Amino acid sequence: MIRKITLLFVTLALLALPLNGLAETVASSFYPIHLLTLNLVDGIDGVEARCVAAPQTGCLHDYQLSAGDMRTLSEADVFCICGAGMEGYLEHVFEALPELKVVDASAEVPLLPSETGETEFNPHIWLSPANARIMIRNLAAGLAEAMPNHAEAIERNRAAYDARLQALDEELTAGLAPFAGAELITFHEAFPYFAEAYDMHVAAVIVREPGDALSPREIAELVETVRALGNPPLFTEPQYADLAAKTVAAETGAGVWELDPCVTGPETDIPLTYYEDVMRQNLRVLQDALSHG
Ligand SMILES: [Zn+2]
Repeated sequence: MIRKITLLFVTLALLALPLNGLAETVASSFYPIHLLTLNLVDGIDGVEARCVAAPQTGCLHDYQLSAGDMRTLSEADVFCICGAGMEGYLEHVFEALPELKVVDASAEVPLLPSETGETEFNPHIWLSPANARIMIRNLAAGLAEAMPNHAEAIERNRAAYDARLQALDEELTAGLAPFAGAELITFHEAFPYFAEAYDMHVAAVIVREPGDALSPREIAELVETVRALGNPPLFTEPQYADLAAKTVAAETGAGVWELDPCVTGPETDIPLTYYEDVMRQNLRVLQDALSHG
């Protein structure tokens, strides 16, 4: 009898192990979502945040999941995605891991159509801090549901982060107010949400999708567009080569500046303020570019 009870006790203890003994893993699809979830699970013991796409990947346009990515996902308790079409591989994940809980950060974000026609909606929603605030609300709700034991701590983190994002939004609104109506030419279609939030407009993009090479004819068309707009500054992105922009700049005399869509960053020791830091840097670049041309 005692042996039986002991055996039962040991079995129960083993069954309880995965609940109490192992870390819970939150996987995020790519860097900007990872930055948001890192803030939401900050300081919560036993929760590990992992980024599925390597931190230098950039946007997920045409991204294919590797075997390592699938392993990360199979080990995750919950998978946080940008949504709005950024994760083109999603069907494949649903098929391979039907049990995996997926949290879509884009729910209730007012979506803009994609001008390039590659996806129905423009998926670069995080580049408006007002959207980022909606996104952390969605992510926090999904994470709290997946890890109810941490719900309070997640909500505390969300509220603190939300206050910081609101302050960032107000700073950008004030700092960009003098440039209302500005026409921007950006590297790819990453900044329409940002532009809309601050009364600016993306008049043209240099490439439809990152990785596209421009034909001489496309370069000539772009040169014409830039001239027609009065040679506004061209904004490249640190993640991608700026050869086409340099060619167009040389032809038109337009200045070349760099805006960061915050899709890459440090792999370890990531500052929790990284998104805000990048957006403040973008603010300074825009102020410089739009005041001096
Ligand atoms: Zn992109």
